[in-house]
Amino acid sequence: MKVGILSVGQVPREVLLELGHALPKVFPDTACSVFNEQVPIPADAFVQKRNQYNSSVILSQVKVFAASNAGFDRVLGVIDVDVFASGLNYVFGEAYTPGKAALISLWRLKPSFYGETAGSDVFVSRAVKEAVHELGHTLGLRHCAKGSCVMHFSNSIFDTDKKQSLFCGQDYLQASLAISTLG
Ligand SMILES: [Zn+2]
Ligand SMILES: [Zn+2]
Repeated sequence: MKVGILSVGQVPREVLLELGHALPKVFPDTACSVFNEQVPIPADAFVQKRNQYNSSVILSQVKVFAASNAGFDRVLGVIDVDVFASGLNYVFGEAYTPGKAALISLWRLKPSFYGETAGSDVFVSRAVKEAVHELGHTLGLRHCAKGSCVMHFSNSIFDTDKKQSLFCGQDYLQASLAISTLG
């Protein structure tokens, strides 16, 4: 699986590079690269009364980008603003299930958001888990009941911290099968 990592708006490049390094360790037959260009945050994604961005609007922009970069099987958009999805106060990310585009937000993954003093390793580990989770959705995987599986739904950062960056056996099998049918 060829994954392109895309900055949507201003995102620290070192985080994108860390993701590009980590994802091939989780997904079989996978290579990652970080796009040099970034796409702007779509202006119509901002919802003034919530002071948040609509993740679905941003995700559809990532989908458009993915469609014009056919050399990539998947595009992971990374954004650093607070995002929500319909019916949810906030989300860590969103993806088409299945599809070519996924999105994660770094905003609520930062230890500082919770007044924590944890270092950047905690932050990167959270970002990797959310990236694996959303890319898992693009391969058709749904939420998993196992709390340690990366496909477990994160209702809060505690769930994210509790789960691993790895798939359970069954989800790994399903992800591998989906990847083997690409290209
Ligand atoms: Zn999910
Ligand atoms: Zn699972």
